[in-house]
Amino acid sequence: MLRNHFETEHNLFRDAFRSFLNKEVVPHQEEWEEAGVVDRSVWRKAGEMGFLLPWAEEEYGGTALKDFRYEQIMCEELAAINEPGFMIPLHSALCGPYIAEYGNAEQKARWLPGIIRGESILAVAMTEPSAGSDLAGMRTTAVDKGDHFVLNGSKVFISNGLLADLVIVAAKTDPANKHAMGLFVVERGMEGFERGRNLKKLGMKSQDTAELFFNNVKLPKENLLGDAKGGFFYLMNMLAQERLTNACGAVAGAEAALNATVDYVKERKAFDRPVAHFQNTRFKLAEMRTQIDVAQVFTDRCVMDHNQKKLTPEVAAEAKLFTTELLCKVVDEGVQLHGGWGYMWEYPICKMYANARIQRIFAGTSEIMKEIISRGMKL
Ligand SMILES: Cc1cc2nc3c(=O)[nH]c(=O)nc-3n(C[C@H](O)[C@H](O)[C@H](O)COP(=O)(O)OP(=O)(O)OC[C@H]3O[C@@H](n4cnc5c(N)ncnc54)[C@H](O)[C@@H]3O)c2cc1C
Repeated sequence: MLRNHFETEHNLFRDAFRSFLNKEVVPHQEEWEEAGVVDRSVWRKAGEMGFLLPWAEEEYGGTALKDFRYEQIMCEELAAINEPGFMIPLHSALCGPYIAEYGNAEQKARWLPGIIRGESILAVAMTEPSAGSDLAGMRTTAVDKGDHFVLNGSKVFISNGLLADLVIVAAKTDPANKHAMGLFVVERGMEGFERGRNLKKLGMKSQDTAELFFNNVKLPKENLLGDAKGGFFYLMNMLAQERLTNACGAVAGAEAALNATVDYVKERKAFDRPVAHFQNTRFKLAEMRTQIDVAQVFTDRCVMDHNQKKLTPEVAAEAKLFTTELLCKVVDEGVQLHGGWGYMWEYPICKMYANARIQRIFAGTSEIMKEIISRGMKL
């Protein structure tokens, strides 16, 4: 289906980003998958090309492209090559904005240039072993000691957990108020900051997901973003953009899975004819085609609404819910249409299936999305 919200400059940006991926990412995907982590050098290369935080102000090294369509293009192109570990969207569209939005002038000048150059890789740490969906249930604390904070606790499932140089950590700051939390920038090498092993996962093999430990980490006051009790609000405020990012990648992932399946069923023969010729195959593919087109139109509209600051948390939740559920359905049908070969790691559909499953869980589960949407309905 024709998409009409991209202009010439977006198409040129897409071409440049696609060439970059083909040159600097695609040749290394198997090696990164084996290593369980991408090579840091690719972050620097992306920084040199201007692909990290393109929305940031020029004074920090950004290009001030304040248009979410650029983020959408990067999500789509990464999904198209099925690369889950090189998480530009996490760095650029999820973590970077916390520093740009809630950091003061000194903090922005201190951190943004390195982040934009790809020298300082970012992560955000909210989830804990006993608190994921219920963020207010977290136990990590940051105690105010006058001229610094002392951070204690642990976080789990942190993407970029091993690579990250700067981790934005959410921690409770007032025992009397469960919603009072601050966002603290914890830097690589700080005393008392330790990382666990690279967690073994169902999919997203090239992405380093780790547990982080904070044992009496002494944090200068200059490492607090915004208000020490405003972190919960800051997190909620950013989640709409995070969920839109998930939606952009999920529709593109579904498109990639559909394409891989179409290619396969045209080639594969059973009962003396291509699998594509069975009515069941054609109907399944037609259903997927239709649902992806509908999801794409909705997502593109959300992107444009977001550009105008009109995307509500409820609609962002709808986008994440619908597209990630659709992605999982498409990869599942895709594996089915590949038969046994669909279960083999060497086939892209197999990796897509494994990579997709987390989309319905992280950045808020599908159930939490339904909670948000239904709350907005004032039932
Ligand atoms: C690969 C990976 C990468 C991740 N990256 C990050 C990261 O970078 N940073 C970070 O902070 N976190 C990250 N996460 C954590 C992720 O966001 C959480 O796993 C997710 O929010 C769910 O939390 P939980 O795992 O504690 O599940 P739980 O909250 O324990 O949920 C368990 C089940 O209960 C359901 N449930 C919970 N509450 C309700 C409710 N009110 N109504 C109905 N059902 C409910 C859930 O939907 C789910 O089905 C990552 C996770 C993974 C696996």
